[in-house]
Amino acid sequence: MGGLLTSLDAATAYLAPVDRERVAEAYRFAEEAHRGMKRRSGEDYITHPVAVTELLAEMHLDVNALMAGLLHDTVEDTPATLEQIEERFGQPVRRIVEGETKISKLAVRVYEDEQAENLRQMLLAMVSDARIILVKLADRLHNMRTLASMPPAKQQRIAKETLEIFAPLAHRLGINHIKNELEDLSFFYLEPERHRQLERQVRMRHVERETYVRESIELLADRLKGEGLRFELSGRSKHLYSIYRKMQRDNKNLDQIFDLMAIRAILTPDPPMPGMAPEDAEKAVCYRALGIVHSLWTPIPGRFKDYVAVPKPNGYQSLHTTVIGLLGQPIEVQIRTQRMHEVAEYGVAAHWAYKQGIEDTEEVKKRLEWMKQLLEVDTTTEDAGAFVDAVKSDFLAERVLVFTPAGDVVNLPRGSTPIDFAYQVHTEIGHRCIGARVNGEIVPLGYELQTGDRVEILSNRSSQYGPSSGWLNMVVTRSAKQKIRHYFRQQERQGHLESGKRALDRALRRRQLPVNSLTTKAKLEEAARKLLNSDSADDLYLAIDNHRMPVKQVVEALSPETAKERKPTLPAVAERRGVNGVFVDGLDAPAKLAQCCSPVRGDDVVGYITRGRGISVHRVDCPNVKHLMASENERFVNVTWDTPSGEVFAVDFEVVAVDRPGLLKDVLDVIAGMNKSATRVTADVQSASRARIHFRVDVKDQSEIEFIKANVARISDVTRVYRAKPGLKA
Ligand code: MN
Repeated sequence: MGGLLTSLDAATAYLAPVDRERVAEAYRFAEEAHRGMKRRSGEDYITHPVAVTELLAEMHLDVNALMAGLLHDTVEDTPATLEQIEERFGQPVRRIVEGETKISKLAVRVYEDEQAENLRQMLLAMVSDARIILVKLADRLHNMRTLASMPPAKQQRIAKETLEIFAPLAHRLGINHIKNELEDLSFFYLEPERHRQLERQVRMRHVERETYVRESIELLADRLKGEGLRFELSGRSKHLYSIYRKMQRDNKNLDQIFDLMAIRAILTPDPPMPGMAPEDAEKAVCYRALGIVHSLWTPIPGRFKDYVAVPKPNGYQSLHTTVIGLLGQPIEVQIRTQRMHEVAEYGVAAHWAYKQGIEDTEEVKKRLEWMKQLLEVDTTTEDAGAFVDAVKSDFLAERVLVFTPAGDVVNLPRGSTPIDFAYQVHTEIGHRCIGARVNGEIVPLGYELQTGDRVEILSNRSSQYGPSSGWLNMVVTRSAKQKIRHYFRQQERQGHLESGKRALDRALRRRQLPVNSLTTKAKLEEAARKLLNSDSADDLYLAIDNHRMPVKQVVEALSPETAKERKPTLPAVAERRGVNGVFVDGLDAPAKLAQCCSPVRGDDVVGYITRGRGISVHRVDCPNVKHLMASENERFVNVTWDTPSGEVFAVDFEVVAVDRPGLLKDVLDVIAGMNKSATRVTADVQSASRARIHFRVDVKDQSEIEFIKANVARISDVTRVYRAKPGLKA
């Protein structure tokens, strides 16, 4: 074990000799306590606390943090006690080790149960001393680095927990190098295939870009030197997971990401002039360098970010600009001082460095303030629910956690809507979603879900309903997008199948052949085998629909006799034929659909015998009918709808909505999404916020009307959709 102690001693060379001796003592204590224990990889257990401590030493943490790193697993896994640790290594070390022990017991349960009290205790444990979090993050980082020896199920759970809790935590505390590595390692285990692919693509681009970046650096170095600045320039690669997330979030491909490789300039400020604050000297040198970069290369508008004047909430400071560099290629340049760089890499830890002393500095206190505030929510309001909401939404900054009516947790990316939720629960629930209630209130389907929301999906049992194409813009999860697209592809296929079937049935009927007995599954499959070398009746219908297979040939395959002796086609006297799709009881008179109420197949209708213009067919609720029935009851006859034959009916719709820009476009988009076109569109704003839209659409039957109403009603801000009343002018 001498080797481990030697390497530990080298890593802690920045400490005073007396402190290095204390670290060595902690090492001996931990080594003895863990003696005989092995890690899953087969190594001695002590290698883990040593590796954790070396990570802490990289951040130049103080001696107490390092001793705690060595001892962090002793109380949980060995007979060693907190009292022993306090006695030998002091009260601060005991506090840190105690925190570690608590956290490791709570972390899993927090993640799995979402229990408020566990989460609260975990944060309380962490917030009492920044070093507790730093040791925990180093512990997690080493465990992630050695995750390969764990069984796959455990790898998945730990990687997920790391990505959702510990990486955001590192980010929040500004410890970028740990955050980036935790994300990349989680990504590696959670999406191995994508990780491998992206890594290869990025490596190839780096090879291409290397010369380019090197030449750019040389050119910029000349200029900065000429201006008398002291600086270091390097090429810096974006970490893999952030590239992946950017591609997902902005729907970009690799070539559209400008900052894949960037130039980083780290500057040394001049000593401040008398009366000037050191921070102002730092800012000044950054802006000077920026001026030089912008005079050398043209900046791309909208790509400049000033985190020097306005630091990120986690303390990050830097200037970012993207310029058109050599050969007209965009390249990102980041400008910061050495101090800003340390904060960017080490965050809280930078303030905890050995040289800064052993108590939390003002900076650290500020960074920890967010946690304290969250904890105060609970003590001042006694509202555990509000506390949990606050912690979780902050903790899992990129995720929202919502609840099903049964209280199950659904974990979604930020920006998700009830539609994402519905698809996450079940594909069918997604397809049948017609509305949503959040915390008991009806919300538009475009509502952005918040952590803690209780979501109930209102669904329709009828298969008439399905997703609307507008949903594609409302969802953020990939799986929901895929399921919606899949649905539309299926629908399209279904449409082709039905139209193929109609064509075949029509052809059979025209030849007076029995449709039902000829189009059994077995008969169709046999014909498909004969004609298409396929086993599927669907293929046959699709072939008819797209005219690859003449319908005549299919008829002859189904009924070979028809090919030989063709029966003379009888006039269709036996079949009752309607006029304009309507039958009139016992009367042979031309019927037409009344203009006043525009009946549609499926409506309850009645016929009125006009004077000399045949029969006019009205909806029973038409005001004209009510009027006429009172005076001329004897002129009314019963009428019924003919079998469908493909004709369409014009129907007027009214939409009432809360007015907003883009509303009309949304309505028209939804209609277009159903392969319909709207005519006679009028829109008017009736009051400050109320709008009324009128349009007319050709429909086949009553169920299509319901379908249109349901889809339009889903548009956000639409309060009502109805069929325009007969006789009502829009
Ligand atoms: Mn550990």
